[in-house]
Amino acid sequence: MKILLIFPGLHHSLAKKKRRHKEFQLIGTTLPTLAALTPPDIEVEILNEYNHPVNYETDADIIGITVMTSHASRAYEIADEFKKRGKFVVLGGIHPTVLPEEASKHATTVVIGEAEGIWEELLKDFQNGRVKKFYKAERFPLPHEIPIPKRGALDPKSRGKRLFSPKIEIMQVSRGCPYNCDFCCVTKFFGNTYRFRPVDSIIKEIKSLGKIDYLFFQDDNIVGSKAQAKEFFKKLIPLKLKWAGGTTLGTLQDDELLDLMNKSGCITMFVGIESLTIPFAKNRTYLEDRLEYYYKTIEKLHNFKIMAYASFIFGFDTDDTKVFEKTVRFAQDACCEGAAFHILTPYPGTKLYEKLDKEGRIFVRDWQYYDGEHAVFHPKLMSAKELEEGFEWAIREFYSVKSIAKRIWGSRTRPLFAIPWNLFIYFDRKFNHQ
Ligand code: SF4
Repeated sequence: MKILLIFPGLHHSLAKKKRRHKEFQLIGTTLPTLAALTPPDIEVEILNEYNHPVNYETDADIIGITVMTSHASRAYEIADEFKKRGKFVVLGGIHPTVLPEEASKHATTVVIGEAEGIWEELLKDFQNGRVKKFYKAERFPLPHEIPIPKRGALDPKSRGKRLFSPKIEIMQVSRGCPYNCDFCCVTKFFGNTYRFRPVDSIIKEIKSLGKIDYLFFQDDNIVGSKAQAKEFFKKLIPLKLKWAGGTTLGTLQDDELLDLMNKSGCITMFVGIESLTIPFAKNRTYLEDRLEYYYKTIEKLHNFKIMAYASFIFGFDTDDTKVFEKTVRFAQDACCEGAAFHILTPYPGTKLYEKLDKEGRIFVRDWQYYDGEHAVFHPKLMSAKELEEGFEWAIREFYSVKSIAKRIWGSRTRPLFAIPWNLFIYFDRKFNHQ
C-alpha cells in the first residue's frame, strides 16, 4: 500500500504573479508528522508542489493533501483531478477543519482537527474497506503523543534546486495558544493551552537531523511555557545551533530567558506587534507608552545579540492611510532587522470573519486571495485599493537600500545575517512582484 502526501503550491493565477524563491518554500512539519504516524509497512512519499509537479498517474492508493486557506483553491483543483481518476483523496489541515462540508465536496474523506489518533484509524478503515466521510479528533493529542516527524519521506526532488544551500530544518516543539486573537484560528485549531513536547523528545529529534545550518521553530510562541522553554534552551546550548523562533513581547521581559536564548543559539526572534493603532486587548494603554515598550523590548533583544523580526498587520478598523508610514517609521527607528507586513485577512473560522461577514464587508470569496497580501474586505477608514497600495509601499520602503543601511547600522546585532536576508527581500520585491 502506498500513500502520496501533497503540500499544494499556489493557484496558477497567483503563481505567475508571485514567483517565490523555491528554496525558501519549506513545507513545515505537518506532512512529515503524518508520515511518522503511518504504520511502517505502508509506503509514504511527500511531495512539495512548489518544487515538483504533481504526477496524477501515481500508483499511490491514498492521496493526502494538507490545506491552508490560501492554498485551498489549488488543493481542491488537485483533489478534483485525482478524484476524476478514481483515487481516494483525504483533505486535512486548518481549512478543512473549519469548513469540512466545503472540503468534502472535493475529497473522499476529511480529517477534522489534529491528525494524531485519527489518521491511524482512517488507514485501518481504508484497509478494511469501510471509510467514513469525516474523521474528527475528539481531543487534542497530549504532548508525548506527538511523534518525531519522518522527514525522510520527502521526495528529494521536492527539496528544490539551490544556488547556495544552507541546510535549514523546521521544527515544532509546542502546539496551542490561549490568546484567541480575533483574526487568528490557532486557538480554535490547536486549543487554548500550550502543549510543550517532552524536552528529551525534542532534543532527540534535533540530534537526528544531523548537521544543519539553521533551525526554524514554527511554533506561534516557542516560550508559551516559560519553565519548559528554559529547560529546553539549557539543553540546546551544547548542540551549538543557530535558530530562529517566535514569541510574544511579554515573554521577552525576562532577562534570564533572553540570556538562555542567546546562549542556545537564537539569532532571530519573530515578535507579533501587529498594530500600532488598536489598544492593547487587556489594559488599554496609551499609544506613546506602548511605543516606548516596543522600542525597549526590541533594544533588549539587540542587547542579547538577537535580531528582531517584527510582524505587523494593516487594515484594522482603527487604521487609516497614515498607518503605513507610521508603522514603517517605527520599525526603522527601532532598527528591526526584519519585518513581515500583512493585510488583515478574515480567515474562515475566526471571529473577524464572522464580524465582517455579518457587516457585509467581505467582497472576495476566492480563498487563493486569503494570503495576507490581498484586501478581501472593505476596510473602515480607507479603500481596499489604498490598503493594498499602502501594504506594498510599506514593504518596498522598509526593504529599500537606504532603510536597510539605516536599520542594520543602527542595530549592528548580526550584520552578516541581516544584510543578505534584507537584500534577498529587496531583490525579490524588485524583480518578482510586478
Ligand atoms: S495571533 Fe498569535 S497570539 Fe494571537 S491567537 Fe494567534 S497564535 Fe495566539
